[in-house]
This record gives sequence, structure tokens and C-alpha cells, in this order.
Amino acid sequence: MQNLLHNLNNEQLAAVTLPAQSALILAGAGSGKTRVLTTRIAWLIQTGQISPSGVLAVTFTNKAAKEMLARLSAMLPINTRGMWIGTFHGLCNRLLRTHYKDAALPQTFQILDTQDQLSAIKRLLKAFNIDDDKFPAKNVMYFINNAKDAGVRAAQMEAFDANERKMIELYELYDEQCQREGVVDFAELLLRTYELLSRNQPLREHYQQRFRHILVDEFQDTNDLQYKWLKLMSGEGASAVFAVGDDDQSIYAFRGANVGNMRAFEKDFRVQNLIKLEQNYRSHGHILDAANILISNNSRRLGKNLRTDAGQGEPVRVYEATSDLQEAQWIIEESKNLINEGVRRSEIAVLYRSNAQSRVIEHALFSAGIPYTVYGGLRYFQRAEVKHAIAYLQLMDNPHNDSAFLRVVNFPARGIGVRTIELLQNAATQYGISLYAAVPYMTGKAGTSLGSFVKLIEGARFETQQFALPELVRVVLDASGLLAHYATEKEGADRIENLEQMVNAAKQFVSEEGYGQDAPAHMGPRADAQAGQAIVNADGLEILDADAPLSTVMSPLSAFLSHASLEAGDNQAQAGQDAMQLMTVHSAKGLEFDNVFIAGLEEGLFPHESSAKEDDGVEEERRLMYVAITRARKRLYMVFSQTRMLHGQTRYNVRSRFFDELPEESLKWLSPRVQAQWFGNRKSAWDDAPLTFGADKALTQRVAQKSSGWRIGEAVSHSRFGEGVIVNLEGSGDNCRAQINFGSHGMKVLDLSVAKLEKL
Ligand code: ATP
Ligand code: MG
Repeated sequence: MQNLLHNLNNEQLAAVTLPAQSALILAGAGSGKTRVLTTRIAWLIQTGQISPSGVLAVTFTNKAAKEMLARLSAMLPINTRGMWIGTFHGLCNRLLRTHYKDAALPQTFQILDTQDQLSAIKRLLKAFNIDDDKFPAKNVMYFINNAKDAGVRAAQMEAFDANERKMIELYELYDEQCQREGVVDFAELLLRTYELLSRNQPLREHYQQRFRHILVDEFQDTNDLQYKWLKLMSGEGASAVFAVGDDDQSIYAFRGANVGNMRAFEKDFRVQNLIKLEQNYRSHGHILDAANILISNNSRRLGKNLRTDAGQGEPVRVYEATSDLQEAQWIIEESKNLINEGVRRSEIAVLYRSNAQSRVIEHALFSAGIPYTVYGGLRYFQRAEVKHAIAYLQLMDNPHNDSAFLRVVNFPARGIGVRTIELLQNAATQYGISLYAAVPYMTGKAGTSLGSFVKLIEGARFETQQFALPELVRVVLDASGLLAHYATEKEGADRIENLEQMVNAAKQFVSEEGYGQDAPAHMGPRADAQAGQAIVNADGLEILDADAPLSTVMSPLSAFLSHASLEAGDNQAQAGQDAMQLMTVHSAKGLEFDNVFIAGLEEGLFPHESSAKEDDGVEEERRLMYVAITRARKRLYMVFSQTRMLHGQTRYNVRSRFFDELPEESLKWLSPRVQAQWFGNRKSAWDDAPLTFGADKALTQRVAQKSSGWRIGEAVSHSRFGEGVIVNLEGSGDNCRAQINFGSHGMKVLDLSVAKLEKL
């Protein structure tokens, strides 16, 4: 016991050992929230207050869940396999798999990722002849997901206008389509589980009694449905909910996260214990100062401080690059220096606001021969060739998944044309069945070609009946014709390699999930699945509860497919290798590294231009910046670039406003603190400095107006900055300068002898 607790400060100790009541731990980045949560689980188990199966812990990513499990097994001599630690999605998947009948789902239901969901919606719009200018598929998707995240079905919604009425109708049709095909999207996983537990009292009570302690990390990013889910699962707070979070790190509002849940939680769960942790154990002083001062620019904060004993450490280094290519080059040079000093590559992270930024950095790393890993981005399981292979596997598991069917029915090409598919879709709609089930209704040439596709799937299924998952994957890669197809493609070698990786992924998966290496992939739940307790469901039937591991409720194939949708392969490519870490700021949440680069700190990129449209937009960007800064332990670098290629266009940038919000004494400018003037041939520090006027300001201005031919208040246009208004003039002759307000490009001081200005 001593061992568990002796590394905690007083507030942390108090939090870990709180009595069994709901509690809120509100604390800044790096103050040990995650550590406290993990230690509390260990402490509850060690002191006999709960058994490992009585814990329900929610993390934000699968990676975080794995780390938590690993830490717990290091702290306690227990088998953590049966513990319920995972993301909301992962936990709901497990519940729905077990109670699939009660949830009105097929046992082999499949999970749509965002990409699949979008294509399912496009298909729906087409089937109902909806004008996609008026109802773009993406908008329909946002509408549906927002509704689901708020916990409402189409039937419960009221329309205020014709447009909304249509949206609601599409939501309903979409749900019907999913139900017919046996697929669920991410939001549906949660909503289904919520509905299942709401209406099924015995089930609900069973789980409520089982999980006397529910612990939630990153609580500030829960959405409304997740909050309702927690309320339900805890029996309105009868079980103790231990929530840890930081309002300053709420960065998922765009996905429905509601930071207001923190305040609601205090009230709804009758929180008597609100603990703040103020000691930061992660970052050196300059880094922490930068974070604290930056975030103090936000309004509506719950209020807390952070201090460190670690000393000031090194200042935050700031570098201005001329182009995105040079930015990447500089990051790589600095990283090489660090690596030469003995820094491990995995302790160097490059963070960026938008996924599109990674390409240039990846390219530079690749050329320099430095191993790296990209999180997020196009994940392994989302690459086209891998999705094709997955679609074949999905059809073997659930042939009624129309998305999977359409993806591969003619891939590789087997002479099944658009016309044939149309006929098939008509038949399917007419009989209200899946495409696969409609094949026997097809006659003639269409019937023959479709029939042989069905034979291919069924043949593969028959052939692999006794095969373990990795062998089954190998057979499918071959039988589908995918390997042969890519072998004839010029750039196919990489794709073949990715496909072959899947056999390894399957091997790793069966061993991690506790299936026997030889367990037949199609086999139902494991024979020794009796671990769960018997409970009585609504129909009076006895069923097992959803006791982990997954192998007790799903065949290896089904489990592997949901893994592909949900876990999307964190770090698939170079597992185990010492590699630099590339990721968006969003996916860096909760992580820490000795050395961190934040790239692309420019107006329009970070803060992102989309933030200007939303009320709380810039504040959310600032929280994102706070998250980025606080990932660093020892060294932090901030980089921006004068020009950048984005979406096929060169952009000319102004450095991020966040620089003006950081404490000067914590920064070290590595490049002269100026922005080069692309509009002139000189570098100058005037750019951001206000004009200085002599004693007689009016006289100075008059002189300048006269000799320059420009006047204050005049509207002008500049090739880079667009339209603006002259607000001040200074100097005379060749030395005339104008201060111009360019609206979204900000205030500029331009040298009138070089700047190309036009009168408007
Ligand atoms: P974030 O808000 O970024 O998720 P957090 O509050 O969850 O941060 P942790 O990740 O739990 O913080 O802790 C940050 C670092 O500080 C970790 O490396 C952790 O091991 C360390 N740490 C936490 N508490 C202590 C302590 N009492 N003594 C020494 N190190 C600690
Ligand atoms: Mg944390």
C-alpha cells in the first residue's frame, strides 16, 4: 500500500483515497490527473473495496486505455484482462455485442467509420434522388451525428422549416438503411447502448450494481449523450463517479463536447469533494509560464493555477522560416542535434494544427532517413487497399453490409457495370432486402456475373471454416484477387506490403485479445466464456453479462473487424521502433514528450481560420494551443513560416497572434524578430511596430500626404493583402511609409517606394 501512495503529494493523496462518493478533480495540464485516476483504481482494488471486475474506467483514446492497463498491471499482481477500461465507444461495443438481441442488432453487426458513414449517406441520397447541392452529404452527416450526440432520434425531433423536415426524414431513412444492413456508426454505438439500458431494467440494474465505481478521464470533453450515459450507468450517482478534467483543455466542442458538463456534474452528482491539483510535474518553468499566461487570455475559466518545482529550464525557442519546406528542414536539423546529444527519437514530437501539414515534414524526415510515426492522419485501416480487404472480410461475416458489397463487388474489376448495380439496387429496394440477398432475383448476364461474386464470397467462407484468423486473412487477400490486382499496378508494391501487413496485424490481434492462435476465425464466442454472471433479460431469458475479454462475446473475425473500425491501428507501421512522433494537437491530448515542436504557428492556420466563424472559436484555439504547449517536458520550439503551400496554393502568412500573448522573457527568438517583407526587397522591423510620430503629428502627416500622393483614410488594394485603408502616413520622398489596416490580414506598415499599392 505504502508503495502505491508514497509518490503522491497531499492533494493527490486526498483525491486517490476519497470515500466512495462522486468527486471532481479539476486541474491543469501535467498535474497528475491521469496518474491519480489510475492510482485510485489500484488503491480501491488493493484495499478490497472493489474487485477488478467492478471497475469501469473511461479514457479518451484506445492508446490511453492500453497505457492505463499496463500501469495497473505494474502496480498490482492482477490479471487486467477482465477489467473494463476503454473508450466510450469501445465499452459500448462490448455491451452491444453481448446484448445484441436485446439491442435489436445482428450478432455480427459492423461498425462504420466516418468515411464509411459518409459513403452510406451518399448512397442514401442517391437512392432517394435528393439534390446534393441542397443537401450535401456532409451536412446530412453532421445533422445526424449532432442529433445522436445529443441523444435524440428522428421521431423525437420537431421541424421548424421544410429544410429541417427533410433532414429529419433523411435521418430516419438513414437509420433504417443501417438497420437493414446490420451496421452502426460511432454515435450509434453510444445511443443504442443508452437506449438499451434505459428500457431494460434488469440489465441496467445488473450493470449498476456491478460497477460501483466509475472513473472518467478527460471529463471536459464529454458530450451530452456521454453525460447522460454516465448518469444512467451510475444510477443517477448511486455509484461513485470519479471525474477528472481540465476546462482549459476542452478542445472538442466541434464534435459536441460540452464543457458545461463539469458544472452540471457538481450539481447532478451532488459532488462534495472538489479537489484542485496545482503542482505541475511535467514541464519546466518557462514552458509552464508560457502556458499559464497564454490561457489567462481566455474568459469563462473555472480558475486554477499551476506551479512547478522543476526550475525555469530553457526558454521556449521561436523560429521564423521562409517557407514550409524550410520549416520542415529546420525542425529536422534541430532534431538531429537533439538525437546526437543522446535524445531518444520517441521523445521528440512534432505537433501541428492540421493533418495537411504532415506531408512536408514526413517527406523531409524520410529524406533524412529518420524513422517517424504519424498518429491520426490516414490510419492504417483507412488506406484504400486495406479497406478493400476489410470489405471482403466484412462480407464473409455479414453479407448484408451494402457498403462493403458496393466497395468490392467490382474491385478488382470483374465486369460488373454500373447498370447491373442499378438493377440490383432496384431489386433490393423493391423487396426491402440487402444487395447480397437480392442477387438471386437477377437474371441474364447481370445475374451470372453477380452470382459468381456471391460464389466467391461463399467459397472463401466455406474454405476457411476451420482456419485461424491470420490464415483466413491470407486466403482472402488471394481469393479476392487484390494481390494479383496490385501486382500489375505500377505503384502497387507499397499497397501489397500494406495488405501483407494485415496478416501480421491479425496475428498480433489474436494473441493480444486472448484467442488461441489456432482458434477458428468464424467460431462463436469462446467455449470458456462462462466467466460472466448469469442475468435475466427482459424476456426472462438467462444471458451472460458482458464480461471481458472480447473473446467471450465475439468470434475472432468479428472482433478483428470492430478493432479495425474502432482502433484504426494506432502506430501500426513501426511498432516498437524508436521513432519521432508526428501528430495533430488534438491527438496529442494527455501525452507528454521531453521535446516538442509546434509547427505552423500562423494566423489562419493556428488559430485556424474556421475559428473566426464561431463564437467561442478563438478561445477554443487558445485552449488547443495550451494543450500543445503543455505536452513538453524540457524543450519547446515554436515555428512559423512566411509562406506555405496549402490545398495547392501558396499562402503568405502573418505569425500567430498567440506570440503576442506569451511572456517575452520566456521566449528566445532564434531568427531576427521580424517578418520579411515579401512586398519589398528589404527586411524591416517596422512591419509590426506602430509608426512613431514627432512632436507635431498633424504636420508630419501633412508632409507625408503631400510628398507621397496618398492620404489618410484612402482605400487601397495590395496584391497580397487585398483591400485596406490607410490609417497613418509618415516620412517624405523615398522614405514614405503608410500604416494600413488590411482587415483580416491585420495592420501593416508598408514602404511606399516598394509596395505595389493601387488606389481603389
Ligand atoms: P494532462 O492534463 O496533460 O492529461 P495530467 O494531469 O493527466 O495531464 P499526468 O499525465 O497524470 O498529468 O502526469 C504528468 C506527469 O507528471 C507524468 O509524467 C506523471 O508521472 C508525473 N507525476 C504526476 N504526479 C507526480 C508526483 N506526485 N510525483 C512525481 N511525478 C508525478
Ligand atoms: Mg491526463
